[in-house]
Amino acid sequence: MPLADIQARITKEETRLGRAPGSTKLIAVSKVQPLDRVIAVLEEGHRIFGENKVQEAVGKWPDLKAQFDGVELHLIGPLQTNKTRQAMGLFDVIHSVDRPKLAKAIARIANEEGHCPRLMIQVNTGEEEQKAGVLPADADAFIAECRALSLPIEGLMCIPPADEEPSLHFALLAKIAKRNNLPELSMGMSSDFERAIGQGATYVRVGSAIFGARDYG
Ligand SMILES: *Cc1c(COP(=O)(O)O)cnc(C)c1O
Repeated sequence: MPLADIQARITKEETRLGRAPGSTKLIAVSKVQPLDRVIAVLEEGHRIFGENKVQEAVGKWPDLKAQFDGVELHLIGPLQTNKTRQAMGLFDVIHSVDRPKLAKAIARIANEEGHCPRLMIQVNTGEEEQKAGVLPADADAFIAECRALSLPIEGLMCIPPADEEPSLHFALLAKIAKRNNLPELSMGMSSDFERAIGQGATYVRVGSAIFGARDYG
């Protein structure tokens, strides 16, 4: 489905809910996609993109950022501590701050470099063992810890369990954000972004619905 159709579906949902048009930003998730598809979306004028691996992003985005003005790049996958400096040099927003060790590494490097990307904290709303993110019960304390480190935390991100109704997870994330005065909510993917907007998403992360299925082969 072309980019314009996804954008139209977002606007329609915003209008239906009485939300301001444009209050939900679309992150085009370009991981694993062939470069020509990514360039086609850039040439359509889209500028907000997401990648889930630092290494993959480092391989393509410095060139694309040089070719296209105004790109805003989001890291939406887990961040290993030893890749923090590299990630902070390339990404404009990091959605996956999820542990004290990483928060401290970001704070230290931000001090050294005099620059810090905008940050979001990932919450493991489904409390799934294999998934990254701080547990809901630990979220308030972790947000406070990040604020004590002067990190520019803007919001929260979640990836609901595949086999559960995502709206319950989106609502939980929105509740944690609200009580901590965090304005941004990164939630919703190709299959559920309209439901995420219904729960207050300010960023939706849409990959396959824009670019087509990913070929991991
Ligand atoms: C891949 C990915 C997406 C996009 O998934 P689609 O189902 O292709 O829209 C969104 N968020 C995260 C964290 C991802 O890794």
